[in-house]
Amino acid sequence: MACRRALLVAALCLAPTLSWSGTPQTSNGAFEAFVAALRIDAEARGVSAATFAAAFRAITAPDPGILGRTRQQGEFVRPVWDYLVGAVSPGRIIRGRARAAALAQTLKAIENRYGVPASVVLAFWGIESDFGASAGSTSTIRALATLAEAKHRGTLFRDELLAALSILQRGDIAPDRMSGSWAGAMGQVQFLPSTYLAHAVDFDGDGHRDIWTSDADSLASIAAYLKDLGWDPALSWGYEVRLPEGFDLTDYTGDLGKFAARGVRRVDGNPLPERGNATLFLPGGLGAPAFLITGNFEVIRGYNTSDSYALAVGHLADRLDGGPVLANPWPTGPRLDGAGLRALQTGLAAAGVYDGPKDGRAGPKLREAVRRYQIGAGLPADGYATPTLLAHVQGRHGRGQ
Ligand code: CA
Repeated sequence: MACRRALLVAALCLAPTLSWSGTPQTSNGAFEAFVAALRIDAEARGVSAATFAAAFRAITAPDPGILGRTRQQGEFVRPVWDYLVGAVSPGRIIRGRARAAALAQTLKAIENRYGVPASVVLAFWGIESDFGASAGSTSTIRALATLAEAKHRGTLFRDELLAALSILQRGDIAPDRMSGSWAGAMGQVQFLPSTYLAHAVDFDGDGHRDIWTSDADSLASIAAYLKDLGWDPALSWGYEVRLPEGFDLTDYTGDLGKFAARGVRRVDGNPLPERGNATLFLPGGLGAPAFLITGNFEVIRGYNTSDSYALAVGHLADRLDGGPVLANPWPTGPRLDGAGLRALQTGLAAAGVYDGPKDGRAGPKLREAVRRYQIGAGLPADGYATPTLLAHVQGRHGRGQ
């Protein structure tokens, strides 16, 4: 009820604010034209006139606060260690363990059905909405309509808006309860509407896929999505490891058993699995925490493409299971910001080892290019992008465009 009241208040307050601030008439006219065109496409998808009218009853203008936020993507611009401090906080670990105890039976049933460990499902739930406590109170229709009308990221948000209307047509959620983040991710699991349509499940058996108020549906929807993305039940997401002296960094991907044979050890003392593929991941370079990540790490990145996010999910899952804090300290030296990473991408492209986007984001593709460059230049191949590396690349290949 509190949420519904908050939305109502927001809807009542916003319209007068806009007119008092002198927003030109054409702005609302453009929004009305956008909604009118949308109505035709929605009806073609089976959304009734009544559903459409109910969805837009309280929405007569875009949300001016949302577009300014589209330039912020915290998990891509902050260093991984800063992100981990917030995402895997002691308070969150305590709350997560309490939720694990209270929901033990449900979590066990979900693990049995989908083959994803309870700790991993809980970790997603914890990071997406602090275990359901902060699922976001922005109207999903309003958020998506704002982004779609502005053509932010092309037609992506218009397609998501049509998917959201399809969800309303199915009757899984009332329009005034369909809420989430400013970017249209919904409920306790922060699914975009298309993800919801393809992967959300009704686990408590009431006939509705309720990722807003049902713990069971939320947790099972996370697990079902991970299963659909290819989660391998035989392996963890990854393992924090120690490398032996003189480890050959140029041979960084392959069988877990071979890494063990080369002297790589888990920091918690448990043995590495004998089978399964893994890649060495050094998100802070040599001397910082080192991981062997499996294909499940890429599955996590299917939920959210940031390396920091995936590492936070994996580490939080381990901590909820009683695992230790990371063994090695993070680096304190200078690091590349988004502009620096873009410059590095440009330089590595000039060096012929990178053909990905010049978007200033770290990820597997940039990491692979850094490693190829380092191997070619005879540098330690840790795949870690630093200002020193950028200077090295630019010294050989210029500053580019
Ligand atoms: Ca349900």
